[in-house]
Amino acid sequence: MRTIIVFFIFIVELFASNTPFDLYKKEGEIKGHTLLIIGGIHGDEPGGYFAPAFLEKYYKIKSGNLWIIPNLNTDSIMADNRGIYGDMNRKFSSVDKNDNDFETVTKIKKIILDKKVDLILNLHDGHGFYRNKYENAIFNPNAWGQATIIDQEKINGLEKFGNLDELANKVTSILNNDSLFQEYHSFGVKNTETKFKDEQMQLSLTYFAVTNNKPAMAIETSKNITELTYKVIYQLKSIEEFMKIMDIKFERDFDINNYEQVKNKIYDFGKVTINNNISFDLTDIKSNMRFVPLKKNDNKFDFTHSLARVKNSDNKYEIYIGNIKVCDLYPQIFDLSTTKEKIKILIDGKELETSFANIVDIKNDFKILKSDFRVNIIGFSKNGVDSEDDILIKKSDIQDNYSIDNSNNKYRVEFYKDGKFYGMIILNFIADKK
Ligand SMILES: [Zn+2]
Repeated sequence: MRTIIVFFIFIVELFASNTPFDLYKKEGEIKGHTLLIIGGIHGDEPGGYFAPAFLEKYYKIKSGNLWIIPNLNTDSIMADNRGIYGDMNRKFSSVDKNDNDFETVTKIKKIILDKKVDLILNLHDGHGFYRNKYENAIFNPNAWGQATIIDQEKINGLEKFGNLDELANKVTSILNNDSLFQEYHSFGVKNTETKFKDEQMQLSLTYFAVTNNKPAMAIETSKNITELTYKVIYQLKSIEEFMKIMDIKFERDFDINNYEQVKNKIYDFGKVTINNNISFDLTDIKSNMRFVPLKKNDNKFDFTHSLARVKNSDNKYEIYIGNIKVCDLYPQIFDLSTTKEKIKILIDGKELETSFANIVDIKNDFKILKSDFRVNIIGFSKNGVDSEDDILIKKSDIQDNYSIDNSNNKYRVEFYKDGKFYGMIILNFIADKK
């Protein structure tokens, strides 16, 4: 029996498909061209997926269309690996039906060939810094970083966006004349002359597109730039220039040259809601959370960040934002129940009603008002008390190490009835602004 189970798992592993990617269509009210952005074909190139995730979250499209896939190679992104099922960008000439990337590659090919799509950008972080003359082992013609990569000069006979070389040079020169963080971050245009010179690239996504008369190129920031914010800014600036050329009008409410502003947005990981009755802010969350009341199976995770994924591994749930693991959740198994009933809390002297999976802000103190739930404030205990309601509590009454965030401001309150878990509320202690 045991052997059969192992064998079964082996089969499942062998034919497991890459986790599906997401396609976000941002379409303006005024019709126009469609730019398709593909991020995350290589899982260890974070500039290539945090930039499109950023686009998805912070850009508004007024005219024309921006289609965004932030996470093409989802499983490899979580693993921070170029391709855990092999190099996906070498599977566009042919892909085996049993390949774990088969479904992903088949699906993305269809999207690339969609009649609406006018231009495709495939985002990467490449090695070194591309230069057309050899300078040293890092700055040379064989490097891929800080370059717009084209497979050929133009797509013959295609008027709209068919002159790849001209487009790439235009965007690159604007980028270089704008403010680079370092002079050596300057961009180049690399023509791989794929048809004649590069057998490997003949298997790639952009070459598949170009040979199907779809203008496509790659934007590569450098793996040698370790600061993610720089890479994201460079990728975004390139994409913005392409949008301008395509007359796609966009709005954003931040300054793209403001490093701190962009960085704060990149590292805002948003929220997770679990089973509609628990909600955590992921930005400052501690790396481990124990005794989280979950079901045995079929727990439902909803995220606000497009690169968020959850991986269930033996005794825990790993939450990722791109290649960054933000938290391990260790469950305590409960039967769940739901209710429309609200919870009444006295906060800083005022009564407030809230439903589960909410965060409430507290300046000084709070008291959970009595109901028929058993209340458990994690990190608080009082001798002889089973249900921790009807007690006025200050932040200093709760032990710091039970907070869910690194800043020790957020704490869990859990509600139970007849042995079933109903929901959680997060108490957020905020500094009193006087
Ligand atoms: Zn790559």
